[in-house]
Amino acid sequence: DSLRDPEQSFLLFDESIEAEMRESERVHNALRHAVQLDELAMVYQPQQDLRTGSLVGFEALMRWNNHGKNVPPDVFIPLAEKTGLIHGIGNWAMREVLRQSIDWQNQPAIKLKQIAFNVSAQEFSRQDFIESIEVALADYPATPDTIQIELTESLLIDDEQAAIEKLHTLKELGFTVAIDDFGTGYSSFSYLSRFPIDKLKIDRSFITNMANGERDIAIVAAMINVAHRLGIGVIAEGVETLEQRDILLSMECDQIQGFLFGKPMNSVDATLFCVNEGVSQ
Ligand code: C2E
Ligand code: MG
Ligand code: MG
Ligand code: MG
Repeated sequence: DSLRDPEQSFLLFDESIEAEMRESERVHNALRHAVQLDELAMVYQPQQDLRTGSLVGFEALMRWNNHGKNVPPDVFIPLAEKTGLIHGIGNWAMREVLRQSIDWQNQPAIKLKQIAFNVSAQEFSRQDFIESIEVALADYPATPDTIQIELTESLLIDDEQAAIEKLHTLKELGFTVAIDDFGTGYSSFSYLSRFPIDKLKIDRSFITNMANGERDIAIVAAMINVAHRLGIGVIAEGVETLEQRDILLSMECDQIQGFLFGKPMNSVDATLFCVNEGVSQ
């Protein structure tokens, strides 16, 4: 029984770690060239106003097609964050979202209230983050008030004062700010009162857990309540069923995003979605 042999099992362990390291090294090398090779793309997932049922906007999500193979963001984003590549690809994403926003803003028939994109803690905490946004805005002069920046709570804990200042600068530039994956990680309601935040995105896990019953529903209700009392809007992530939507509606959640309303889609399909959902006039 080879697994019982301490030397043998050490070897197995060692080999799998080594294989894993080789694999992430390979992905890292490929990712370094993804921007030049034009392998990255943004897809857009629609967000719905719960009261009216209408489309309010989209969240932009990155996709990487590496030689015909799709690598999921949950694989390449954490790797990019670890290796510093996030600065290059994050900057590409921001510019691409601004470019697409101008495209939509220039179509009189399309009136989107928000186009959100994700910014990693590593990007946000860099000294030149604001400057990189200003440079991108100079090249792609979109109207920032329809653009929402999604940040996770983790970045608010490190250097609180620096984070607050950056958030204020973003708001002065006209952007709105959402807290992504709320409820996971270092959640604290106190962040919501201390930071200038426009929207709270309740993490998908809480929406899934509502099926467990009243206790889990109560948690979501509490998040919505606190946010509203602080003047912060709420969007629920990962809404897949009519039951979830109806509960959220009864709790006066403002918006939903999830497979029920629409999956992430390329910009051509997103433009068609705008027309079909009656955002066009
Ligand atoms: P996120 O920002 O929380 O994005 C929501 C994720 O949930 C997306 O996964 C989306 O496709 C997925 N999703 C939406 N609705 C549903 C649903 O009803 N059911 C289920 N099961 N999933 C749903 P995706 O696109 O794979 O992205 C994963 C994460 O990768 C994102 O989570 C975000 O943290 C990160 N990410 C994606 N694009 C970017 C980017 O451009 N920059 C940065 N820094 N991070 C990004
Ligand atoms: Mg327009
Ligand atoms: Mg997000
Ligand atoms: Mg999220």
